[in-house]
Amino acid sequence: MKIGGNLNGIRKTYLKRLNDLFNIKYSPDSLVDTFLAIELANVSGFLGREIAVYLDRRGCLESIMIGDRHTVPLLKDMRRRDPNSLSGLRCIHTHPDASGELSPLDISSLLEARFDAMIAIGVKDREIVDIYMATPVGINNYNILGPLSLNELTEISFQGLITDIEKNIFKPSVHNVEEKEPKALLISFNSGNNGSLHDAAQSLNELKELAFTANIYVHATMLLKLTKPDPSTYLRKGKLHDLSLFRQQEAIDIIILDTSLSPKQQSNLEDFLGCDIADRTAVILQIFAQRAKTKEGKLQVELAQLNYILPRLAGSGHYLSRLGGGIGTRGPGETKLETDRRKIRTRINELHSEIENIRKQRQVLRQKRTVNEIPVIALVGYTNAGKSTLMNALTSANVFVENKLFATLDPITKRINYAEQELLLTDTVGFIDKLPHQLVSAFRATLEEITHADLLLHVVNAADPAREGHIDTVNRVLEEIGVKNKQVLLVFNKCDIIEDQVEVQNEINKYYPALAISALNRTNLEILLDMILEYLPQKLKTFRLHIPYDNLATINKIYTWGHVLEIEYKEDHIFCIVSLRTPIPDFIEQYIIADSIEG
Ligand code: GDP
Ligand code: MG
Repeated sequence: MKIGGNLNGIRKTYLKRLNDLFNIKYSPDSLVDTFLAIELANVSGFLGREIAVYLDRRGCLESIMIGDRHTVPLLKDMRRRDPNSLSGLRCIHTHPDASGELSPLDISSLLEARFDAMIAIGVKDREIVDIYMATPVGINNYNILGPLSLNELTEISFQGLITDIEKNIFKPSVHNVEEKEPKALLISFNSGNNGSLHDAAQSLNELKELAFTANIYVHATMLLKLTKPDPSTYLRKGKLHDLSLFRQQEAIDIIILDTSLSPKQQSNLEDFLGCDIADRTAVILQIFAQRAKTKEGKLQVELAQLNYILPRLAGSGHYLSRLGGGIGTRGPGETKLETDRRKIRTRINELHSEIENIRKQRQVLRQKRTVNEIPVIALVGYTNAGKSTLMNALTSANVFVENKLFATLDPITKRINYAEQELLLTDTVGFIDKLPHQLVSAFRATLEEITHADLLLHVVNAADPAREGHIDTVNRVLEEIGVKNKQVLLVFNKCDIIEDQVEVQNEINKYYPALAISALNRTNLEILLDMILEYLPQKLKTFRLHIPYDNLATINKIYTWGHVLEIEYKEDHIFCIVSLRTPIPDFIEQYIIADSIEG
């Protein structure tokens, strides 16, 4: 018999029901079979004891262990597994008369036995109340997901999950963990609406990437269900209590919430949890601060930081002083607080005027360009889509390229020449989901460059499964900064590493105009340049012309060159108002009446 553990006093009928579970072949792709989960909850509820089952990757039940009210013994020989591979088993167990929230013991079993996943089913009155799941991320790190309903759990593809885990778990840590480095816990939220679990998981992933880019060491992540945030603490009181225990057990130094916290929420959370609290905005600000290179970029970041810090000065956060660079933010006395506030306000005013100056200089530059009639093409797109790589491929500009979020903060403009047409190419800051509002406004000057472009190349990472969501995000931010009615070419990049070519091609066909390229391998770049020329809006300008009657041929040419808006046959010449593409060819230019350009 493969049922082990404490079998004392268990009636035969229950043993038989458990034994029957071995005869079922479970789908290899479902994390937990629905029948199996319900049956476990039911039997465990009757017995009032924990039950654990171990499933292998083919969907076969390997063994069942019965425990007591609060614990269940681990499988023998599971401990001290090969640290370089997962065991290929997942543990599904019950918490009778309790929530499925994972205990520290559950987590340490997960890591010690190197399970694929540790799933706990909370049981009340023999029915499932909630489910939590933990999966390994690194040797000592893990993700927690929950609370989930059985439906939500069965929606998760096991194969996809395990591929992700194995891809990440054994790759050498890019991040050198030093003893003294603060340990961060990241928390994202699932509102419980349809499809929100998927969105929340994606958002959590992005927050993890952001933390990585900001050089923050992520110890653990959690996905929590939260339907309505608490106005004073964001998280609910009960959750705060659990979290406070968890933080102490795990010696977490900083908790980062995947949201924007009000200053009050942040300081209340710090008081309650006794550690530093940061939100998504703070992480993004930190990245911006590390990466701004040009004078303008630095000024904009400083402005955004000070605006973020000002209302939070009274709080206690360490984290802010890292952001604030030199401003004493840890519990200053009232007088000090006032002085600090005054200093910050003065600096904010200075920054505003410095940025305004740079903006004016930019306008002058832009006017020069308009006079020269060189079309401007702006690269926009989600962060990490490959904008800078494409810019490098098209020019030989050495724009900083790196596989991190936000590698480019400052706009860089380069000139290229293709088919005798000069073009200016501008690389811009990457867009990102939930880009904090104060950042959009801080970077308005930079983003303004986009609003003056003649054509946008919207670069999409075609190899990213979340690409459609990213396209929407970029479009939303474009709208926010006031970009309307602009010709956009959708460029699906990284086509060299797409797994499902057909699926992506179908998607590309939905958009028009769109094109698949690989900036890295320089595939389809010429077609892209041809498309740029084709879609570049022709700059039309209105002119008044006097054409002598002995040059009727010119009139014919004008009809093919532009639109004739008005024509009058005068005594000694033909007068016409025409709308023409620029630059104007010589044969027309000679007939333009001085100062007749209407723009
Ligand atoms: P940006 O944030 O949009 O400017 O993205 P980057 O140009 O910095 O590129 C982000 C990462 O994607 C870098 O590691 C690039 O090497 C990589 N990348 C860019 N284009 C391609 C491509 O066509 N194929 C592949 N495989 N990788 C690419
Ligand atoms: Mg870039």
